[in-house]
Amino acid sequence: MNKPKTLNKGEVFVISGPAGAGKTTLVNRLEKDFPDKVAESISCTTRRPRGAEEHTKHYHFLSRDEFIKLRDQGAFLEWAEVFGELYGTLKSEVENICTTGRHAFLVIDVQGAEQLMGKIDANFIFISPPSMEELRRRLESRHTESQDAMELRLSWAKEELAKSGDFDYTICNNDLMTAYEELKTLCGV
Ligand code: 5GP
Repeated sequence: MNKPKTLNKGEVFVISGPAGAGKTTLVNRLEKDFPDKVAESISCTTRRPRGAEEHTKHYHFLSRDEFIKLRDQGAFLEWAEVFGELYGTLKSEVENICTTGRHAFLVIDVQGAEQLMGKIDANFIFISPPSMEELRRRLESRHTESQDAMELRLSWAKEELAKSGDFDYTICNNDLMTAYEELKTLCGV
């Protein structure tokens, strides 16, 4: 793919970190506050919708066959298997956002972010939870995972945290407002 940052005004921000660190909350807020400057790239996933999630608003919910077909056509900028489900960023999503002059925000896992390092011109930001205890508390309060699934997410989070040094910046999401201000400053919005 061509490098969106050099071709267009909109820059690419890759926001990564363990599930439960608060990356989606932070980016949703930024998008809501600055809709003409920021847009989140809607990923494809093979997982089922949770709660009130809607097709094309939160994710493009695809069957495994549909996902693999797109992957084999080279439609993804990056893709990864996360907790047994496939997730991927469509090249077209990112291109469409950047051509409007807005910044494209990719909220993705660490495997996906690492695929993009050195491949695209982007700002790589790691969102970390203040502690493993707090991450556990946040995941428990979501009530979306079984106990086994939560333990899996927590053990995977430890491996992801070890890779935070590969990123351009790390924001510790202890207090949401402080983390949000830091993100805003980094993005220059
Ligand atoms: P969830 O199922 O909780 O929505 O997401 C699980 C994990 O997959 C989260 O860390 C989320 O950021 C990540 N994820 C969401 N979309 C993508 C994507 O397009 N690519 C990659 N690599 N990870 C993604």
